[in-house]
Amino acid sequence: MIKVIFLDRDGVIIKERGEYNYLPDHIIMVEGIVEALQKLYRKGFDFIIVSNQGGIARGLYKIKDVKFINDSISQFFKTYGINILDTIYCPHHPDISACICRKPDTQLFEKMLHIYNIDPKTSWMIGDQDRDIEAGQKAGLKTLLLEPNDDLNKYLESIEY
Ligand SMILES: [Zn+2]
Repeated sequence: MIKVIFLDRDGVIIKERGEYNYLPDHIIMVEGIVEALQKLYRKGFDFIIVSNQGGIARGLYKIKDVKFINDSISQFFKTYGINILDTIYCPHHPDISACICRKPDTQLFEKMLHIYNIDPKTSWMIGDQDRDIEAGQKAGLKTLLLEPNDDLNKYLESIEY
């Protein structure tokens, strides 16, 4: 089994701007994220980015816009020797239709645990919102709550290897 750190995207990887991030200009990396992921990668963690993208259901942007941003993030980390195992998102929004994949629900997590044979007991969810933490706990992961756009390096000591 492998150990994984699930990361929320907006506010943890790229900057939370208080609006949906869907244009190339919205890809602004949070300070310290490269160094933090390099350290965690050396400790044997893989990474999966998991985000709610309710703007798709609301018609504000399209799946291809989400894919562009997610692929850009993966490419960016690859240049620093960091592999992003997968990038998953919920395209639904409760104002439009109900679903079981939007955080704090856990379907996306359960799928990943199964597909990649991930050990939840040694894996983490890192997010900047209560729904990230709630989802991680329900999926049996350890959790870490950050302030939005905060430097992950400040919290690394609290992550057990
Ligand atoms: Zn969903």
